[in-house]
Amino acid sequence: SVVLEVNDLETHYYTSRGTVKAVHDVSFKLNKEEVLGIAGESGCGKSTLGWSIMGMPPPPGRVVKGSVKVDGIDVLKLSDAERRRTVLWKKISMVFQGAINAFNPVYTIGDQLAEPLIIHENYTKKEAIEKVKEYLKMVGLNPDVVKRYPHELSGGMKQRAVIAMALILEPTVFIADEPTTALDVVVQAQILNLMKELKKEKKLSFILITHDMSVIAELADKVAIMYAGEIVELGTSEQIFLNP
Ligand code: ADP
Ligand code: ADP
Repeated sequence: SVVLEVNDLETHYYTSRGTVKAVHDVSFKLNKEEVLGIAGESGCGKSTLGWSIMGMPPPPGRVVKGSVKVDGIDVLKLSDAERRRTVLWKKISMVFQGAINAFNPVYTIGDQLAEPLIIHENYTKKEAIEKVKEYLKMVGLNPDVVKRYPHELSGGMKQRAVIAMALILEPTVFIADEPTTALDVVVQAQILNLMKELKKEKKLSFILITHDMSVIAELADKVAIMYAGEIVELGTSEQIFLNP
């Protein structure tokens, strides 16, 4: 069954040098428990597409056209407040590039992972911390990490925590943007293995954005290749890797 339907999406950046059409004519469907890899060289629009699916391209970007349907809701028709309440974290959750640096240095990892549960799901603090511990274990971290501050974690540990945070509300669709990039090589392999395990055990409906075709080859069921803002090829992994 289809969990996400993107239709004719177009996103522009308005810059002093004019309008950049970063994403255009993008349509695809994501099936339940399927991993769609989005590949393409740097600057082709992958990250912009990820953010646009959540209805929040980075400024000065704006989605100018299209629809993004998840669980029968058109994400792009909601107000910002409504999107925060109903879509972000719960329906679509993204590990964005640089998310490991977005932790607030003054709060513990436990407090920061507990927040979406408290805000969106009415958990008490105590209940939330219990669920956070569960999710830390799931991503291969010691549950005691709840008491640690971000600077006490290595890059790889932070990436695991970020993945736990993105999955904690059990989103319908999980997006990971370059989840293994900017980590050292050994840690890249560990995070890749974690995502393979999660794919198998949590049966994620998952969009994997990366310039790294070897990561796509390991994880994706289907592959979309982007070039200059649009999807130029879309097929099963077998089709894409047999006809390069
Ligand atoms: P990718 O993720 O494939 O590297 P991006 O989505 O980051 O591609 O970028 C797509 C295009 O949009 C590029 O031409 C890039 O320069 C431009 N772009 C990205 N972010 C911004 C921004 N905040 N302001 C202006 N242009 C941007
Ligand atoms: P604020 O009121 O501070 O804007 P938001 O809930 O909109 O709070 O989000 C703050 C930041 O958290 C966003 O800019 C975004 O980077 C990140 N964020 C929000 N929702 C998600 C999500 N579902 N997945 C990943 N990151 C998110």
